[in-house]
Amino acid sequence: MSEDFEQTGCNRVRQVANRGHYDRETVYQILDASLVGNIGFVTDDGPCIIPMLFARCGDELLFHGSSKSRLMNMLCGGGKICVSTTLLDGLVMAKSLFHHSMNYRSVTVFGCGYEVTDENERMEAVRIIADKTMVGRWDDARQPNVQEMKATCIAAVKIESASAKIRTGPPKDEPDDLELPVWTGVLPLAQVAGEPIDREDEVADLKVPDYVKRWRQEVNA
Ligand SMILES: Cc1cc2nc3c(=O)[nH]c(=O)nc-3n(C[C@H](O)[C@H](O)[C@H](O)COP(=O)(O)OP(=O)(O)OC[C@H]3O[C@@H](n4cnc5c(N)ncnc54)[C@H](O)[C@@H]3O)c2cc1C
Repeated sequence: MSEDFEQTGCNRVRQVANRGHYDRETVYQILDASLVGNIGFVTDDGPCIIPMLFARCGDELLFHGSSKSRLMNMLCGGGKICVSTTLLDGLVMAKSLFHHSMNYRSVTVFGCGYEVTDENERMEAVRIIADKTMVGRWDDARQPNVQEMKATCIAAVKIESASAKIRTGPPKDEPDDLELPVWTGVLPLAQVAGEPIDREDEVADLKVPDYVKRWRQEVNA
């Protein structure tokens, strides 16, 4: 994969700097494993953060939403944003509350939005977002028609700068606390996909598709 993100005043991890990562492979793996990004932007009323589904395509993030959406209009208008996403891997419990922590993989991305206007690229962006969310769904469900695409705005953000921060492993404690009779360790946390629930008013006799079962197995592996 291409070169690391340059460390600047904007993306350099300062607190526990050795947890910072700037290589695209690490940053992109976390982005690709995250379904939702929190988009931070500045409004006339001050800062605002909004959660959004997203997908990465090369060095860009893709978003879709209503053409009436304030957020989409801001992105399409070239707005400067910061996207943050976190995969929570565990609660880390130490002898002292001060050293309690979490195991996580998180990413912060900086960039400016622009509107995707080419009709083929717009449709491709919707496909990429659909496939990232659930591989196989694009080929199965009815694809967007002209009317639906008219009501849909597609925005992309070129990833200008980014960093990942990752914590793994057991708790760290002060040497003087190690004898304390307090249980310490890690409670692993993971995203779990439950049993699929059939739609109650379904008219046909349909089975859960294999790609849904596969997705579930992969998430729960
Ligand atoms: C998991 C997830 C995925 C989503 N994916 C998409 C997507 O792909 N495309 C899309 O267009 N929208 C998505 N949404 C909805 C999105 O969060 C916004 O509600 C929507 O995009 C409208 O944004 P806006 O700034 O135009 O909203 P506005 O209605 O203009 O926002 C006004 C105010 O409403 C409140 N508000 C808006 N959204 C939220 C929210 N989600 N939670 C709490 N308060 C809120 C905030 O106070 C905000 O300042 C998603 C939401 C979630 C939770």
